[in-house]
Amino acid sequence: MATSYELTLESFMAGLKRRNPGETEFHQAVEEVSTYLIPYVTKYPQYQTARILERLTEPDRIIVFRVCWEDDQGNVRVNRGYRVQFNNAIGPYKGGLRFHPSVNLSILKFLGFEQIFKNSLTTLPMGAGKGGADFNPKGKSDREVMRFCQAFMTELSKHIGENIDVPAGDIGVGAREISYMFGQYKRLTNEFTGTLTGKGLEFGGSKIRKEATGFGCIYFMQEMLKHQSDDLAGKACVISGSGNVAQYAALKLIQLGAKVLTMSDSTGFIHDPDGINEEKLNFIIDLKTVKRQSLAEYAKHYKLEFHEGKRPWAVPCQLAFPCATQNELDENNAKDLMQKGFIGVAEGANMPTTIQAIKVFQNAKLLFSPGKASNAGGVAVSGLEMTQNSLRMSWSNEELETRLRNIMINIHEECVAHGSEDGYIDYVKGANIAGFTKVANAMLAYGVI
Ligand code: NDP
Repeated sequence: MATSYELTLESFMAGLKRRNPGETEFHQAVEEVSTYLIPYVTKYPQYQTARILERLTEPDRIIVFRVCWEDDQGNVRVNRGYRVQFNNAIGPYKGGLRFHPSVNLSILKFLGFEQIFKNSLTTLPMGAGKGGADFNPKGKSDREVMRFCQAFMTELSKHIGENIDVPAGDIGVGAREISYMFGQYKRLTNEFTGTLTGKGLEFGGSKIRKEATGFGCIYFMQEMLKHQSDDLAGKACVISGSGNVAQYAALKLIQLGAKVLTMSDSTGFIHDPDGINEEKLNFIIDLKTVKRQSLAEYAKHYKLEFHEGKRPWAVPCQLAFPCATQNELDENNAKDLMQKGFIGVAEGANMPTTIQAIKVFQNAKLLFSPGKASNAGGVAVSGLEMTQNSLRMSWSNEELETRLRNIMINIHEECVAHGSEDGYIDYVKGANIAGFTKVANAMLAYGVI
């Protein structure tokens, strides 16, 4: 007879921190989820007896490897590559690759852990993984990036496959990097399968994949507003980031009649009081994806001030969309945002808001959606790309946008169903519980493995 035990947030987190010392981002992500899941598993003891939470916070496996490549001057360079295969209870491991000098195991474990809940929420059959390298693509020539991607994939290819693990892009990994990696995977394995998503349209990529995360985030905000009989038209919006997610969040906001006041990058932010229109946004897309330069160039071109080294949260607005990176919006930023008329936040990035900042919004009963709900559109369309590859067919823009829209509406409904409390929707609670149950039930069904 199994012994019963008392599960508290304190004891659970103490054990997790002991087993994973120094991994602060991973601790933060687990704490945010466990705050809601511990009361839930205590209420439904089948999960507690099977120690589902303990099993869910231990990755299936972690692969760490050396990536050795040659730069344009003939120097030998060494980076560290990773793949965290977190959980495949409901489908092949699925999640992006990040190339950024800050990449370490803590960051990849937080991202892989979040991915479990996000992928489950999409309703598509996808497990969770995350990977990347501490490689900085900035300032590298195309050929250097190619050589790095090929070296990285030479090892990674041994651990992935269309039914095993299907990586995608993330920070520092866009169309260019995915293409180089897919080319190398194809060369090494001599097979053409959908083992990476975010591919070019000519070789198995899905339409609207590049737009999906940003568009999905705005659809999610649209649903949150609709739920309180409001809409996006005319709303003053602040966005951080100017990469893939931020660009298409901005485009959808513009298309739906909202006013985009800011965008940012790692060097600072721009504030355009007239609003960033489609023409100006195209300037930004070209600047960031083709020229790969700082937003300071935008400020120069449109004769605006460039707020160097700063984040945009003190700019008065009604809606905020953090779309750059983790922990970019803290408690003080949250207080700055809460000026008169502020309505809420939809996260486009993963864990951009600290736990203390989330509390500020929730205590004020403002809208707040966690990334695992509002940025799930990207992985959802990746899941659809996998389906299209398996079927050897491709769907139209309209078909895919309708599917994406419906997935975001469905995630919103699930959050409302599991997160309603006295008329306020706690979207963090809703997303955590709705994402958990499917994975937990699959793990229960498999027995002790
Ligand atoms: P990109 O690399 O395309 O863009 C990242 C943006 O964030 C750039 O503007 C970059 O500035 C900025 N940025 C990166 N690191 C920092 C930092 N430490 N401080 C300030 N700014 C920073 O990445 P994505 O748009 O793909 O990803 C953005 C976020 O969205 C990440 O949290 C990612 O995990 C998440 N996400 C992405 C998905 C996708 O489909 N791409 C899906 C779901 C979530 P600069 O140009 O100067 O480097």
